[in-house]
Amino acid sequence: MEQHLLVETLRKSFNSGKTRNLTFRKTQLKNLLKMYEETVEEMSEALWKDLKKSKRDTYMTEIIHLKIDVENILSNFDSYTKIERPAKTALVNIFDRVEIHNDPYGVVLIMGAWNFPLQLNLLPTHGAIASGNCVIIKPSELAPAISEYLAKTIPKYLDKDCYQVFQGGIEETQKLLKEKFDYIFLTGSPKVGKIVHQAAALSLTPTTLELGGKTPVYIDESCFNASMEIVTKRILWGKCINAGQMCVSPDYILCTKDVQKKFLEYAPKIIKEFFGENPKKSQDYCRIINSNHFERLQKLIDPAKIAFGGDLDPQDLYISPTILSDVHPNDLIMQEEIFGPILPILNVKDVQEAIDLINSKEKALAMYIFSNDAVVTNKILNSTSCGGVTVNGTIFHKLCPLLSHGGVGNSGMGSYHGKKSFDTFTHKKGVLKKKLSKIGELTHRLTYPPYSNLKINVVSKIRHISAEISFNILNFILTFLFGMIFASLINI
Ligand code: NAD
Repeated sequence: MEQHLLVETLRKSFNSGKTRNLTFRKTQLKNLLKMYEETVEEMSEALWKDLKKSKRDTYMTEIIHLKIDVENILSNFDSYTKIERPAKTALVNIFDRVEIHNDPYGVVLIMGAWNFPLQLNLLPTHGAIASGNCVIIKPSELAPAISEYLAKTIPKYLDKDCYQVFQGGIEETQKLLKEKFDYIFLTGSPKVGKIVHQAAALSLTPTTLELGGKTPVYIDESCFNASMEIVTKRILWGKCINAGQMCVSPDYILCTKDVQKKFLEYAPKIIKEFFGENPKKSQDYCRIINSNHFERLQKLIDPAKIAFGGDLDPQDLYISPTILSDVHPNDLIMQEEIFGPILPILNVKDVQEAIDLINSKEKALAMYIFSNDAVVTNKILNSTSCGGVTVNGTIFHKLCPLLSHGGVGNSGMGSYHGKKSFDTFTHKKGVLKKKLSKIGELTHRLTYPPYSNLKINVVSKIRHISAEISFNILNFILTFLFGMIFASLINI
């Protein structure tokens, strides 16, 4: 469907109120769950075509997360969608009803990146559907098989008038961005983040930008004796997921020369444990998305600095897990997000030098601190800024259902996951319901002219006083007493 017509069709559906119906939304989410259960083969085939991901890798890194997320939203659906009532109200509103309504924005555009092409398109879609929006999903053209799978499969499971997949490259997407949306959610690079933010600014459309950046890892000397094997394992695990093509992949390591030596001692043994003698033959190690990215990554490898790995096969788009040592901050590999299985190590003399280096770069999406010393950990946490942190691990903060995921500065704005996915696509509409009765008039009378000094004093005193709401007898008596006091004050 042509861009304008597509948006208009969805807007008509939204205005009809169809997606405001809670049962309708729940049914759509349940249908998505069914889609995840019934189309495992199709998803796996598509991911094999795009990234040479095995079925079990697809399950582990994509399908599990989709199922957990949609199940979590469904089990919390009633509490997410219900009208909120603040626990406290201002004394001036003691006779009113204060409510926060969860209003959908309208027609939402979700633009996904290619690296986890299922999750990045569908996780935000769960939140957008749950909160009552109509949705256009725009998958990345760089993962064409998954884009095709979504375009073919979504209409079989979701209501076509409310949810659509739009396929296209840069030109088509730029045309689509000229349309008026009520919310835009992008997962992508900071470069495209700026393009989308500019387009959205023209119509004051709110946006969430889930972007990337260079995620630093600091390994403290305090790990040197006791924990270096675990440290090495956790870093290499995080780095090798999706062959490093992950927004929160460890991008570079900062440590002393001694720590670097220990890391390099453990690395070969750990890679062998994970992927066998030859990672190329492992079912759990995928390929680079395309030849452009392969060539980009190839240029980042300085042969003189390879401490481990460095096996490349352009025909197969294969790059083995590769570690570069003694890397300098001015080296090419330190100038951009790596987004591949190459891990440079930079030597710093102490934690302060690491902090200074981190702060000399744009704010990252994630950071990993390995330390057995709480003082060091807190020093880094309190002197740097980034989207989120795992201490003594990698990736895990992104998987924690209690934490939302999002960047800051160059790594993005806004966040999602868990309840935040619902809130992201919801306008929290404040509603104050007053009574037209005499009792409702008691506080209102304070605000009518003429403005006596007494009224001004009373209003300024009670304006910020809040009271617990509880609909019990005590509250009724207190309400009555306050009413009497107001009434007598105003009538003096
Ligand atoms: P990208 O920015 O090139 O593409 C993202 C989306 O924007 C795609 O749908 C693409 O079709 C569209 N697009 C690309 N160029 C465009 C243009 N000029 N005008 C309009 N639309 C355009 O990103 P990518 O290469 O798909 O993904 C890699 C980037 O995404 C990395 O920086 C990575 O860190 C980031 N990322 C972030 C997260 C996160 O959760 N924060 C997750 C995954 C990836």
